[in-house]
Amino acid sequence: MLTAICGINWGDEGKGRMVDLLSSDYNVVVRYQGGNNAGHTVINEKGKFILNLLPSGILRDGVVNVMGNGMVIDLKHLCGEIGRLRDAGISVTPQNLKISSMAVICMPYNVMQDCLEEERLADKKYGSTKRGIAPIYGDKYLKKAIRMGELFEKDLLRERLKDIVEWKNLTIEKVYGAKPVTVEEMETYLEEYGGQLLPFVCDTGKFLNDAAGRGEKILFEAQLGALRDIDFGIYPYTSSSNTIAAYAPIGAGIPNRKLDLSIGIMKAYSSCVGEGPFTAEYFGEKAEKLREAGGEYGAATGRPRRVGAFDVPASRYGIRMQGADEIALTKLDVLSGMDEIEVCTAYELDGKRTEEFPFSADLARCKPVYTKLKGWKKDISSCRRAEDLPAEALEYIRFIEKATGCYIRYVSVGASREAYITLDK
Ligand code: GDP
Ligand code: MG
Repeated sequence: MLTAICGINWGDEGKGRMVDLLSSDYNVVVRYQGGNNAGHTVINEKGKFILNLLPSGILRDGVVNVMGNGMVIDLKHLCGEIGRLRDAGISVTPQNLKISSMAVICMPYNVMQDCLEEERLADKKYGSTKRGIAPIYGDKYLKKAIRMGELFEKDLLRERLKDIVEWKNLTIEKVYGAKPVTVEEMETYLEEYGGQLLPFVCDTGKFLNDAAGRGEKILFEAQLGALRDIDFGIYPYTSSSNTIAAYAPIGAGIPNRKLDLSIGIMKAYSSCVGEGPFTAEYFGEKAEKLREAGGEYGAATGRPRRVGAFDVPASRYGIRMQGADEIALTKLDVLSGMDEIEVCTAYELDGKRTEEFPFSADLARCKPVYTKLKGWKKDISSCRRAEDLPAEALEYIRFIEKATGCYIRYVSVGASREAYITLDK
């Protein structure tokens, strides 16, 4: 059984909390793309954790966690993240964490380059998390990146590092006028942090293929959502990798295997970190209220997230791109207490109404068309069955289900593991 947990929207839908919940049924959890620009908040009986690189299954005893070849790994950050978990009493060993030898290392000069470029862009910035993600994926496709398995080959690594640093310094010095990095600094960095991670590095593709062959259950954990996918998202305001579920077997290292189930995580309203068109966005007091109610501040960066109404055209597109078979609708509790709730059911583009999600260049000209639904006053965070929900809350769920055309199987009503409801089809 191969299942993907993926984001339907712009990210921060609550994928981490759903992986934490559903991983009880799985043997392996795999992260298949992205780096430490991710922030997945998980709250369970062990405490509150913010995971950036580690798969959210790391908090479950008996689950093996894999960091796939599709990832970009900041070594120092990963060492810190492992250290913080160990301090909290979570065991992280080569038995429950395996890092692909093909995963790419996000180097300190990539982080530097990311910051320099956002500075250069000034008011035209992309809203990067400044974790080096775009530069390192760029390096990967230019074939100038170093992969985890190369840490075992010291002599070869030194030679490649010399060439790469010489090349990278051309950009750092001549494009940005910044201070170049040295081969020695980079070598020390790789030894210090890479050295600690070597025991975890292995052929994870083989491990996963063997596990799948034995009939083990594998859960793929995405970072970000469909609208941030490098090909299908709101380019150029996307991430630099493929966030979609179809990429999961590739980024995990088992392109020969097919997904059995795609579970889309979709928020009951909209939120978006960083720049780019965001049609159903709220501003001023209305935004402030929703942001506060939902605690919408970036887990990786602490930045206030942009918020808005649930967006049907964007979500329907996200569901299609993710091939979602079923949905977990998250954070419904955040909407409690409103007199009425707006849902963006269509866009107006150049005076014409459309229910389709347009090409990203046209998106900035779209205006939201809202439908108003009745709100509910009751606090629903302790509801555990559909019957416990106020009729208006159930109507809101059914309205969204119908509008997006995908079965909503789970509804989450709180951040902790058990705060959810399962609905019949
Ligand atoms: P991810 O990046 O998709 O894993 O999502 P994040 O963890 O970045 O953002 C989701 C935030 O909402 C986290 O702070 C979660 O603790 C919180 N959260 C998740 N589900 C719920 C829910 O049902 N209700 C409320 N109030 N908070 C939730
Ligand atoms: Mg997040």
